[in-house]
Amino acid sequence: MSRYWNSLVAKLDPYVPGEQPRIQNLIKLNTNEHPYGPSPKVLEAIKAQTNDSLRLYPDPTALELRQAIGRRFNLVPEQVFVGNGSDEVLAHVFHALLKHDQPVLFPDITYSFYPVYCGLYEIQYKTLPLDAHLKIRVEDYLPSPGDRNVGGIIFPNPNAPTGSAHALGDVERIVAANPDVVVVVDEAYVDFGAQSAVSLIDQYPNLLVVHTLSKSRSLAGLRVGYAMGHPDLIQGLDRVKNSFNSYPLDRLALAGATAAIEDQAHFEATRDAVVRTRGMLTQGLEQLGFEVLPSTANFVFARHPARDGALLASALREKNIIVRHFKKPRIDQYLRITIGTDEQCAKLLEACQSILNGSAVRSFGN
Ligand SMILES: *Cc1c(COP(=O)(O)O)cnc(C)c1O
Repeated sequence: MSRYWNSLVAKLDPYVPGEQPRIQNLIKLNTNEHPYGPSPKVLEAIKAQTNDSLRLYPDPTALELRQAIGRRFNLVPEQVFVGNGSDEVLAHVFHALLKHDQPVLFPDITYSFYPVYCGLYEIQYKTLPLDAHLKIRVEDYLPSPGDRNVGGIIFPNPNAPTGSAHALGDVERIVAANPDVVVVVDEAYVDFGAQSAVSLIDQYPNLLVVHTLSKSRSLAGLRVGYAMGHPDLIQGLDRVKNSFNSYPLDRLALAGATAAIEDQAHFEATRDAVVRTRGMLTQGLEQLGFEVLPSTANFVFARHPARDGALLASALREKNIIVRHFKKPRIDQYLRITIGTDEQCAKLLEACQSILNGSAVRSFGN
């Protein structure tokens, strides 16, 4: 606290990102990065831009990248907005498209950045509890007739940190039932096995779909995300972006991201490898007695009925393996484990087995 902070900053409750420790030989399964590198074409494209042209500003409209995304998803560039990571895109979405004085709806257990943006932009919100299986209750997002007290809706599909996805029909019911507000589907993990709502964009002017290159395109370090929706929504986002930072994507990011979107073969091969490893890891964890939620993401959410989640996470850490543990009601017994390489996952299973066999972690009696 400082007397120089204004009243808004004083009351912020910022997001805490998963740690990025600099420890040698660490098995890092805590922030859902891709275990395999980006397409070699991405690296070439970035290298080709490391020259004198860096003295020039990048294209403020990111047209080539938006065209590449448009080709990929059958959209025109006017339906595409890009930003410095989907976190920045989401921030602009909260700022520009979700109402500030009527509650925005999202699940109680979800991406923990959403309430942070609400704090930053002073947006009212209401969280709706997941059901007993940690699934979104679709009916909760269908307003009763005459209910005008909703300022917008946002949820990830698949949800984070549970990994569970809803079918396109469920998403469409929510979008169709809320024509007066924007419904945002955060598809950060959709490529790992869920159905995208992109195909609904031409039908629903209130639908905005948000993607990131950080997870399935192996580019968390480049910081690129995008939103797709009706041109009116994109124009709203542009107004905020151009009131904030005209050049959120630098020349290297634009070149690398465009190459990544265009290399579908590398994307599919590495994505399929992660999906295969997820099956292996799920099976291995279940054999050790873990309960693993069905996942369509590049992570699994699992708990052991006899072992405390926090203690398991710290015992793994002592073995140089980091996973994510959330000290939050309802999910504090779970570990969120990013799908690594086969070798990393085998080491994780081995470590879990030795922890479960040994006395390193005692189960809580209460
Ligand atoms: C990782 C993640 C993001 C943010 O991704 P960046 O593009 O790296 O900012 C957004 N939403 C969800 C649900 C995520 O898990």
